[in-house]
Amino acid sequence: MIHALRGMKDLIFDDARRYEYIIQTLSRIARNYGFEYIETPILEETRLFKRSVGESSDIVGKEMYQFTDKGGNDVCLRPEGTAGVVRAFVQAKLDRQQGQKYRFFYHGPMFRYERPQKGRLREFHQFGVESFGEKSVEEDFTLIVMLAEIFEALGIRTRVKINSLGCTVCMPPYRQRLVGYLEAIAQELCPDCQRRIATNPIRVLDCKNEQCQNLLEEAPKLSQELCEECDRDFTRLQKLLTDAGIAYEVDTHLVRGLDYYSGAAFEFVSDEIGAQSAVAGGGRYDRLVEFLEGRPTPGVGFAIGIERIMELVRMPQERREGWYLGAMTPEALDRLLPLARQLRRSHRVVVEYAPKGLKAHLKGADKANARYCAVIGEEELSKEHIWIKDLEAREEKTVPLKELEEIEAQ
Ligand SMILES: [Zn+2]
Ligand SMILES: [Zn+2]
Repeated sequence: MIHALRGMKDLIFDDARRYEYIIQTLSRIARNYGFEYIETPILEETRLFKRSVGESSDIVGKEMYQFTDKGGNDVCLRPEGTAGVVRAFVQAKLDRQQGQKYRFFYHGPMFRYERPQKGRLREFHQFGVESFGEKSVEEDFTLIVMLAEIFEALGIRTRVKINSLGCTVCMPPYRQRLVGYLEAIAQELCPDCQRRIATNPIRVLDCKNEQCQNLLEEAPKLSQELCEECDRDFTRLQKLLTDAGIAYEVDTHLVRGLDYYSGAAFEFVSDEIGAQSAVAGGGRYDRLVEFLEGRPTPGVGFAIGIERIMELVRMPQERREGWYLGAMTPEALDRLLPLARQLRRSHRVVVEYAPKGLKAHLKGADKANARYCAVIGEEELSKEHIWIKDLEAREEKTVPLKELEEIEAQ
């Protein structure tokens, strides 16, 4: 037997239903917020991710699904969704449309070559949005509201964490002060953090190591050293959230650790899934378009890890739906096929091709989760009639076939 690759999983039955329901729900909400669908390739040049996700990140450093294709190109299965969308944005020259706003949503598989463990697959799925051209803090607010609505719609209880990552004015001096603080305590930090002091000091702040976290309690906090403009935006964001009735906490250790991130950063966490608790993360990346050779364009977005929330989603109750059509003789089947075609214009229809008795068809209809079981036997055929049972109301009747052909419009 050929198995799926390690760390890759089929979505089937309940998983598939959940996945489809999540994507439909999120797509509907994204459209209501003015976002439109974008699809970008799963395979991209490796240097796209090196430049956007950053060489010092774990994703690029250790987890890239990278290989050389037959043409000798260094390519990579996308580890996240933002880089491809920004590349597409620049490639379509949308960065040259000064003052225009573009809002996109995407969903699909992402790949990271890491050691498979619970909650970590090599192929996983994300849903995300990216908003370009809107610098206002109201857009940050709107994305957070949108996430709150998404989790409410899915029946998942979450907490919201926010932070500000400053700008090119206030971040560099802060980073210097932080490096000074970290160098003084370097001996006591975990090996990862020791390495990060030189490569990516901001990332030290969100180290999951408990000893590191304790040592960082006294570290300088950017939220207290923001420039006037960043401080005004961050204060306004908090006021908007409070006015909207969205409870949040300011988490000064919530960082994204890449140079192009600035301003608002946010994360939604669920306490129902333990240590891997972030279910969505996002923030502003006003310099990313420049990093990918576009003209400076403000941007903000978020991504949701679908596998992380799959088990938590409260699914709507499944209901019987549509029609099951069955024949008791070969001649009756010939009469059913055009009927099925007619009904399928607006109804879910399952046809059993093998002629069977009534009892067998009722069983089939139940298994197909159909609302109606409709059967034609010899007698019905001679009168142009059809026997119908409503499996929900448990009522049955025989009606002229014509009548059924006309329900198509309903
Ligand atoms: Zn600033
Ligand atoms: Zn650490």
